[in-house]
Amino acid sequence: MPALSDVTAALDALWPRERAEDWDAVGPVCGDPDAEVTRVLFAVDPVREVAEEAVALGAQLLVTHHPLFLRGTTTVEAGTFKGRVVHTLIRDGVALHVAHTNADRADPGVSDALAGALGLRVTGPLVPDPSDPAGRRGLGRLGELETPLSLAEFTALAAARLPATAQGVRAAGDPDRPVRTVAVCGGAGDSLFARVRASGADAYLTADLRHHPASEAREESPLALVDAAHWATEWPWCELAAAQLDAVSERHGWGLRTHVSRRVTDPWGLHQPSPHATDASGASGASDARHLEGAPN
Ligand SMILES: [Zn+2]
Repeated sequence: MPALSDVTAALDALWPRERAEDWDAVGPVCGDPDAEVTRVLFAVDPVREVAEEAVALGAQLLVTHHPLFLRGTTTVEAGTFKGRVVHTLIRDGVALHVAHTNADRADPGVSDALAGALGLRVTGPLVPDPSDPAGRRGLGRLGELETPLSLAEFTALAAARLPATAQGVRAAGDPDRPVRTVAVCGGAGDSLFARVRASGADAYLTADLRHHPASEAREESPLALVDAAHWATEWPWCELAAAQLDAVSERHGWGLRTHVSRRVTDPWGLHQPSPHATDASGASGASDARHLEGAPN
């Protein structure tokens, strides 16, 4: 049975901390390096219900994509939400480890998992990491659909393939525009518009697209924009990451049990289309907030 320090070393080998952005806060947050680990839970957000899920599961390690603390703090008092998470985890012997922008840049990384969920064949990173001679690491990914789709069809495919959220998937652009090459970036990707345009991609799928950057991007070029829920674009990485740790565990004979949280922690839980609005295909755009199939409620 591995110690937490052994598993942490394996996580650091998958997602080296030094490859995170300068502003980021990755690596261990809490946990005893000498404690034994048998069960690991992967999730996007280190929120209260995920911490409670880790405890209920009997996990000794929770690995999240988003940091719990991004800036300095002077308190982990349990009256604060973050302090409550820390107390819940420490009280029940659960360590927390964060792999954020180091997992974004990794090969394979967050956007590879997103591209995989969409059925794209990845051709390379959108913003290559200059320190990678193989040219595979970096931010975002470029990929190709096996069969070209219209923008409306691609939007429907993204809504069907990504985990269900209240937001669903919305798109900007001509619904009939053919889409074959797609740029993707898990999480908020509106800082990469110039790169996407330069790549010549037909469409760009990311999250958190705001009015002004999206409006300006639409004016600049015919590039179609596809906006999914932030959580939904990063959740596929949890399954990839769990599979990567499974492989390490198998190699070392650790016998780790890995789990992926299916709780929808996207903060938006309700979506009401305007009464007379129609989506690109002419059908009502309503969607329900629900847990993933087979997930506990
Ligand atoms: Zn994110």
